[in-house]
Amino acid sequence: MQYRIDPQSGNQLSVLGFGLMRLPRGITGIDQEQTTGLLKQAVQAGVNYFDTAYVYAGSEQAFGKALQATGLRDSLYLATKLPHQMVRSAADLDRIFEEQLKRLQTERIDYYLIHNLPDLASWQRLVGLGIEEWISKKKASGQISQIGFSFHGKQNDFLELLDAYAWQFTQIQYNYLDVNYQAGMTGLKAAQQKGLMVVIMEPLRGGKLATGLPAAASAVLKNADPNASLASWAFNWIWDQAEPTVVLSGMNSAEQLAENLATADQASVGLLSPEQHKALDQVIQIIQKSYRIPCTSCSYCMPCPHGVNIPDCFNAYNTRYSQGLVSGYTQYFSGIRPHQPERYSGPSKCQACGACERKCPQNLAIIDSLLEVRKHMEAAWTRPLIAVIGKII
Ligand code: SF4
Ligand code: SF4
Repeated sequence: MQYRIDPQSGNQLSVLGFGLMRLPRGITGIDQEQTTGLLKQAVQAGVNYFDTAYVYAGSEQAFGKALQATGLRDSLYLATKLPHQMVRSAADLDRIFEEQLKRLQTERIDYYLIHNLPDLASWQRLVGLGIEEWISKKKASGQISQIGFSFHGKQNDFLELLDAYAWQFTQIQYNYLDVNYQAGMTGLKAAQQKGLMVVIMEPLRGGKLATGLPAAASAVLKNADPNASLASWAFNWIWDQAEPTVVLSGMNSAEQLAENLATADQASVGLLSPEQHKALDQVIQIIQKSYRIPCTSCSYCMPCPHGVNIPDCFNAYNTRYSQGLVSGYTQYFSGIRPHQPERYSGPSKCQACGACERKCPQNLAIIDSLLEVRKHMEAAWTRPLIAVIGKII
C-alpha cells in the first residue's frame, strides 16, 4: 500500500480508501460476515481510511458491528457524514451525532463531513443554527478530529464554500471524464492550495469507466496495456496527480478489493507515461464523440445571466444516452435540480439571449441544444417522476 500525508493532521492515509456505501448484501440486507471479512482483508493490506454516512442505509450499523467484532477501531481512520438537510436546530446536531457514535460503536469520528453541501446558502443556514460553535465544541472534546464537506454541486459554489470556513478537508467527485464537471480540476487545485486534504469519490464514475466504456475506447486501453484492467486506468489517472490524498472505492467483494489493492500498491505521482496519457486522451475523445451534444464542459459560456447551468445540462443529457437513464438522471438531479424550483438551473430558464453562443469555442448552437435537452430530460412523462424523487430527496 502507498500512503500520502494529510497536510492538516499529518496522518499517513492509504491512497485507497474504502467507501462503505454499497456493502455486500444477502437476502435479508447487508451481509455482516462478508462485511467483517472485507474490513479485515483491507486493514491487513494497509487500507486505513473508511468512509460511510448517516444516510447509507445500514452502513454505519454494519461497520460498527464489524469494528466491534475485529477490534480494529484504532487501526484505521473513520469518516462519516452529517445529513445537513435533517438538521432543523442545534439539538439535531447532537442527536444525529450521538446516534452515529452509537451505530459505529465508537467514541470519536476522525473525519466528519457535512454531506453533499451544495452551496453557500446551505452552509449559512447551518451557521445560523450554531454549527460553528458545535464543531468547536466537538473538536475540543476530541469527538471530531477533522472537519470537512463533501460536494456534488457547481464549481463556483465549491470555490465559495472553500472560503466560507476553516475546513480541513473536502471530498469531491473526480475522474478522467469529470475534469471540468462539479468541483473539477480547478476545485481540486484550489482546495489543495488552501492546504485542505482532498478525498476523491466516484473515480470510476459509478463503475462506468470500468464496465460501461464504448467498445472502441476499451480497445484503445487494451491495446496500450493488455494486462491492465479498465478500472486500474481510471485509478492511475488520479494517483498520477499530486493533489488527491485518498481515492475512495466502494468495494463489495474480496475479488474487487484484491484487484484495487494491487493497483494501489503501484500508485505514485507521475506514474503514467506520455504514451499512457495519450491513450487516455484518445479514450476521452471517443467517449465525447459518442455524446449527442459535443460539449467539453469548458464553462467558457458561463455564467448565464438567467441562471442556466449550460455544461451540466449537456453533461447529464449526454450521460443519459451514453451511459444510461439512471446515470443521466442522477447527474440531472445533482446538477440541475429539477425537483427544487428555487435552485433549478435547467433549460427551461433559457431566454435565448445568445450571450453564451458567442463565447463557446466549439461553436455549439447552445439555444437549440438546450431545447433538445428540455424535450428529452423534462418530457411530460418525467414530471411525475421528478416530483416523486424530489419528495424522497
Ligand atoms: S441563450 Fe439561454 S443559456 Fe445562453 S446565456 Fe442566454 S439565457 Fe443563458
Ligand atoms: S462553452 Fe460550449 S463547450 Fe464550453 S461548456 Fe459551454 S457549451 Fe460546452
